[in-house]
Amino acid sequence: MSERAYLDWNATAPLRPEALVVMLAALEEGGNPSSVHAEGRAARRLVEQARGQIAAAVGADTEGVVFTAGGTEANALALTPGWELSGRRAERLIVSAIEHPSVLAGGRFSVDRIATAPVNAHGVIDLEALRTLLAADGPALVSLMLANNETGAIQPVPEAARIVHEAGGILHVDAVQALGRMPLDARKLGADLLTISAHKIGGPKGNGALIVTNPALRWPVPLIRGGGQERNRRAGTENVAGIVGFGAAAEAASYNLPIEMEHMGVLRAELEAALAAVDGTIIFSQPVPRLPNTTLFALKGVRAETAVIAFDLEGVAVSSGAACSSGKVQASHVLAAMGIQPEIAQGAIRISLGPTTKKAEIIRCIEAWKKLANVLRKAK
Ligand code: PLP
Repeated sequence: MSERAYLDWNATAPLRPEALVVMLAALEEGGNPSSVHAEGRAARRLVEQARGQIAAAVGADTEGVVFTAGGTEANALALTPGWELSGRRAERLIVSAIEHPSVLAGGRFSVDRIATAPVNAHGVIDLEALRTLLAADGPALVSLMLANNETGAIQPVPEAARIVHEAGGILHVDAVQALGRMPLDARKLGADLLTISAHKIGGPKGNGALIVTNPALRWPVPLIRGGGQERNRRAGTENVAGIVGFGAAAEAASYNLPIEMEHMGVLRAELEAALAAVDGTIIFSQPVPRLPNTTLFALKGVRAETAVIAFDLEGVAVSSGAACSSGKVQASHVLAAMGIQPEIAQGAIRISLGPTTKKAEIIRCIEAWKKLANVLRKAK
């Protein structure tokens, strides 16, 4: 059989060559970035260079970048009671209903201090409901993702930021899926805190950052305490090679963004035209702005877990529902929040492309689907 088609980039992206080269070199460096000797200073230079690359990629100041062991940890660090802005402390949390499980878990907020803002049928936050939730009580930390990992739907973050700030709140934005797939400027977004992750943009797994984009924010108690690394905001010796790979991937992703977005968008349009040609196919969130690489679709009567296995046997890697919970068969909370009936939601298949996805992979995926759709529908 010829090469496989990897179409699950929202789960993780292959390592970019730019990241691999610098990571291999960094693994040869012996020093601890906290040491004062020459070896330590060499490691520190690598970390600080990467911090600069990441800050530049998201339009933030370098001092705001706090390295973590991935997007999940960055979200957990952000979701801490006690962030303070202009003398107002956020002691409650509002999340949208379609957030990643690492946000829905609520970090260190107790369950009774968490409220959920609904989304519409296309998976876009209801801003009026957000306004009402903000007015209900004291200052809140609001966590709203920039783009959804399942549907790709882009959230109205600048509008949400205005509403949150008018109400004296603080806005955290999970931009894990957005980075490298749409323009991202933290200042224009109006986010106070931003989460990003390396492995979705061709960096290594297990590296991420929480970026404090509003310098006026006062820190609560960090999640991991110990040594004074990351200016006392995240203890633990830095994963130097991972951070260096993250920096290189962020630089490459932002430099190539226009061309990569265009490439993914053209292939996705071709894919969706072919999917829509099968009678009864539903493509979720299609009427609203989406990332150019993501398609979530369902065909009544087809179960997603069966389809994913069938695709795999045809040499095509796709996922069902949320990739982060692949392996566990559970209906998507995102589709449930959009009001999609469980029989349809159970069939949701996600295809996600990347900058190096080839037309041949899309053709292979389309051929596989044409072959599978009718068989799977009948086999129900
Ligand atoms: N946030 C979103 C929107 C995600 O899609 C993911 C992973 O899929 C995460 C956070 C978690 O990031 P990580 O895998 O780096 O822990």
